[in-house]
Amino acid sequence: MVSDKELKKEFLKKAAEEWETTYPVKALRELGFERYQCKKCKRHFWSQKEDDTCGDTQCVGKLTFIGKSPTKKKIEYIDVWKEYAKTHEKLGYTPIKRYPVIARWNPTTEFTIASIAAFQPYVVSGEIKPPANPLVIPQFCLRFNDTDNVGITGHNVGFIMLGEHAFVPLKEYDINKYIKDHLTWLEKGMGISLKKIKIHEDFWTGGGNFGPCMEFFSEGLEISNQVYMQYEVTTDGYKELKVKVLDMGQGYERIAWFTQGALNNYETMSPPVLKKMRERTGVELDEEFGKKFYPLSPRLNLDEIEDIEKAWEEIAKEIGVPPEELKEKVKKQAALYSVMEHSRALLVAITDGGLPSNVGGMYNLRVILRRALSYIDKYKWQLDIGEICEWHAEYLKPLFPELQKNIENTKKILAVEKKKYEATKEKIKQVLGRIITEEINTEKLIELYDSQGITPELVAEEAEKQGKKIEIPKDFYSLVSEKHEKKIQEAQTRREEQLELKSIKDTEKLYFEDYTKTTFLAEVLAIIGNKVILDKTMFYPTSGGQLHDTGELNGEKVIDVFKQGNIIVHVMKEKPRFEAGDVVKGDIDFDRRVQLTQHHTATHIVNAAARKALGNHVNQAGAKKDMEKAQLDITHYENLTTEQIKQIEEEANKIVQKGIEVKKEILPREEAEKKYGMRIYQGGAVPGKELRIVSIDNLDVEACRGTHLNNTTETGKIVIIKATKIKDGVIRITFAAGRAAEELEEKEQHILEKAAAELGVDIPEIPARAKELFEKWKLARKAVKKKKELKPEELALEKKEKTEGTNEEILEKTAEILKTQPEHILNTIKRFKKELEEMKKKF
Ligand SMILES: [Zn+2]
Ligand SMILES: [Zn+2]
Repeated sequence: MVSDKELKKEFLKKAAEEWETTYPVKALRELGFERYQCKKCKRHFWSQKEDDTCGDTQCVGKLTFIGKSPTKKKIEYIDVWKEYAKTHEKLGYTPIKRYPVIARWNPTTEFTIASIAAFQPYVVSGEIKPPANPLVIPQFCLRFNDTDNVGITGHNVGFIMLGEHAFVPLKEYDINKYIKDHLTWLEKGMGISLKKIKIHEDFWTGGGNFGPCMEFFSEGLEISNQVYMQYEVTTDGYKELKVKVLDMGQGYERIAWFTQGALNNYETMSPPVLKKMRERTGVELDEEFGKKFYPLSPRLNLDEIEDIEKAWEEIAKEIGVPPEELKEKVKKQAALYSVMEHSRALLVAITDGGLPSNVGGMYNLRVILRRALSYIDKYKWQLDIGEICEWHAEYLKPLFPELQKNIENTKKILAVEKKKYEATKEKIKQVLGRIITEEINTEKLIELYDSQGITPELVAEEAEKQGKKIEIPKDFYSLVSEKHEKKIQEAQTRREEQLELKSIKDTEKLYFEDYTKTTFLAEVLAIIGNKVILDKTMFYPTSGGQLHDTGELNGEKVIDVFKQGNIIVHVMKEKPRFEAGDVVKGDIDFDRRVQLTQHHTATHIVNAAARKALGNHVNQAGAKKDMEKAQLDITHYENLTTEQIKQIEEEANKIVQKGIEVKKEILPREEAEKKYGMRIYQGGAVPGKELRIVSIDNLDVEACRGTHLNNTTETGKIVIIKATKIKDGVIRITFAAGRAAEELEEKEQHILEKAAAELGVDIPEIPARAKELFEKWKLARKAVKKKKELKPEELALEKKEKTEGTNEEILEKTAEILKTQPEHILNTIKRFKKELEEMKKKF
């Protein structure tokens, strides 16, 4: 497979020769643009007047609009979308709402990194229709590769990409119209004279697609990039896309910055928020200094330069201040800007279901949060990230009202995260005392950050106190993110071994309709050893966390069922006596089917109950349903209290008792998304044009292909067995429903009855008596050791104190007292009693 770089090189060469047919030359000429070549970078560009350089930031060397905006209009940040939508509506584009920044629908990325990512992969591949066509969208995006540039060069972690997209067949694809539309926006909407615009010929590759593109520059700033996505990368080269795509992206933040001629984009993206932050911290802005420095700031882009120290020195020389003074001044502002910027990114991410943690991509959220917290610490600012988020939500209300609706929950999550950060700082003192004697290089810094959450700033600070200087790599946070991304990729590329099933057609699935149907007739298509493939089946294969059915084919035992692609494979206990071509009768073990189905529907119910009890950030992170119990992993930031577990159990049983219909419908993907939102992807991204939607009112709506009950009452009682933190940000709730729950309760009753008999008390008196037993046993053991005498009455068991609570709680409590598991209570009591009797004889 060719790399993106090779592709780009090959196509740029081709495009340089065939530029007249590759780029929208007709429109450009009509508008008075001519083609020139940059004397510096040798690239070709279009301009209304002749020029030596192409207008690229690197070729021009500075931003020339700061303090003197070239546009007729000045647009306030919050009004940009209104203006953009208005201009584009007149040009025939439909404005739509943004997608979540957590990309649940997209199997290739965890975050929405560009406006086009909202429509990948299924709209771009032509499998499903776009919500409107052509359209414009204010898509909030997250990118973590520029974290270290934030606050200085104009880069952001969270930003809005104004997307302009069309998805059309070749004969309707008109790049000359697209570029004219965009220039209309730049000229009429933003008020930039076409004379001041330079347009590059370039090529863009990414996400398995590529095509020529035009980049728009003005006054040294890249304003936008219009990609004509036409090809798809395949294993043997590339091919034309069925649907041609217009992928135009423009940074929202830059529009306010550019048209106002402001010092930098941070000054214009949230003016009321920044004002409050300045009042709180007393950090002032030196306008005169800013006008000298910020035009040169792109030269500090860590992505583009080799020697950052040299770059600082050159800029210092150019504006006539000592380098140390320059750095000090810029870095304090950058810290304030970063706190503002990161807070906003976190606000949107958490509202959309993200949760800072150590796991996968969510790690990046913790990285930016801790980066912001460490700045607040360093400068001893009276700032609270949750409060800053509140200010942002207020300012952004006309654009994204959803941010305010969830603000209380967002603040709670941030407060817990802050506590975790503070606990880390405490730990650091102990850890660092030990390690500071070792050599601390970048690798060690990353390890400390990864394993203990200790930021390099903290390490440097602590080291300095001990008279040691530590070099923090300038791109530290990018290095950390990169390392974690690699991990995700590695995990995704792992594959299981597969059967050779090439010529066999997909199995028709009969288990969707009604879980109570358990017999069917089917034709045998193939037999491989003891594995049988039918033309259709009612056997549910292990998938979506639900265990497979068992049963019989023509009276012979089926012990396992799995899915390979769209083919379902039945594993027989022995090599079958029937042959390919035979029609066989299938019979499914109904008791097992019912139990698994109860556990599956109960999983959806517990998910809804947990969201109700804990907050809107709760999403499914995994699930498993077997016979004895089910597990649901949810995203949550701390261990659950007994009170919370009880609350979830109560909520779940309320849903059961209400007798709500469990609705199953097959919907086209675009319709399902429109109707229910992106929350349907609780089990992760799913492929296909059509989705099976399982809904319990609007309490829980999920794209799910498991077997489900028809009504919530059929679940029977739901009993939560326990809740444990399995990894950072993920809590596993283990529970049982239906017959399994009854059996569990019967077992509990049984254990308690026996324990009560053994201790000679009633069930509610067990905990108190067990405690007494344990204490007297300890007392006796101590006495034996020290050869001390004890009177028999000192060891008598007589406590008769009642404990309030259900059987389950009494069991839990007793287990806690005896420091054992509930199922071992009886044996533990017997052992203590026996040992106590033996010790008594020694006195
Ligand atoms: Zn150039
Ligand atoms: Zn499900």
